[in-house]
Amino acid sequence: MQMIVRESRRRGKRIGLVPTMGFLHEGHKSLIQKAREVSDLVVVSIFVNPTQFAPNEDFDRYPRDMERDKAISESVGVDVLFTPGVEEMYPAGFSTYVVSEGMSSILEGKFRPTHFRGVATIVAKLFLIIQPDAAVFGQKDAQQCAVIKHMVRDLNFGVAIIAAPIVREDDGLAISSRNIYLSPEERNDAAILFYSLRKAEEMIRGGERYAAAVMREVEKIIRTKRTAMIDYVAVNDAESLTEISELQKEKPVLISLAVRFGKTRLIDNIIVQL
Ligand code: AMP
Repeated sequence: MQMIVRESRRRGKRIGLVPTMGFLHEGHKSLIQKAREVSDLVVVSIFVNPTQFAPNEDFDRYPRDMERDKAISESVGVDVLFTPGVEEMYPAGFSTYVVSEGMSSILEGKFRPTHFRGVATIVAKLFLIIQPDAAVFGQKDAQQCAVIKHMVRDLNFGVAIIAAPIVREDDGLAISSRNIYLSPEERNDAAILFYSLRKAEEMIRGGERYAAAVMREVEKIIRTKRTAMIDYVAVNDAESLTEISELQKEKPVLISLAVRFGKTRLIDNIIVQL
């Protein structure tokens, strides 16, 4: 793998990386397409990264299907598939992590305190191994995009970070590998997430400026669904992720949420710019 990448770089080709945990879907495919647009050699990594899962989370049952992923990668023209093993990425005695302070302990970080340490560490390793010119991440994981952008700036990685829009099902549910865990009732109820986010956008466009009022309305809408259990609904500055109480013109805001449906925890968000 490194040989092909090194040789391509030597010949002046631009390398684009799409890091994933596999079980590829339309969301991943859109990232691959974006990488294709900005680079000559598209590298996709598939690695279910144990350090970004807490012991009580779904690492063991996270969906995996390498044969299917290989076929999909081929069909969409991925040039290099990088599928390291856990021992390769975390040799015995591994003890060095990348921690983005502050940003990692809010929003998702409040519920998953070690998550972004795992994410930043694995992405840093991938950047060092592959040395891409650009890397594409999904806006679906908005906080992940923000953490990675900070890491790249703080540690001088020199990788262009591209955030690609969220790909959704017909009813608005953001596509996710975890959606297959949902029961039919939970799957139906989960469409409420995007519906509630669009309502929030409508409220803001209609003149609402108080974040608390927007959050209350989103929560109220989600609570109409029997199987939904809210972890959080939040309104933050889309770039710095600082909390916002009153919205201002020209500053994009991120409305994000995490909601559990049975054992499945889903996240979604929308960026609203007035
Ligand atoms: P994952 O395999 O879930 O870790 O996701 C790998 C990359 O795909 C991350 O950058 C995600 O944000 C992105 N991604 C996942 N789902 C979607 C989606 N529905 N639309 C756009 N990007 C997505």
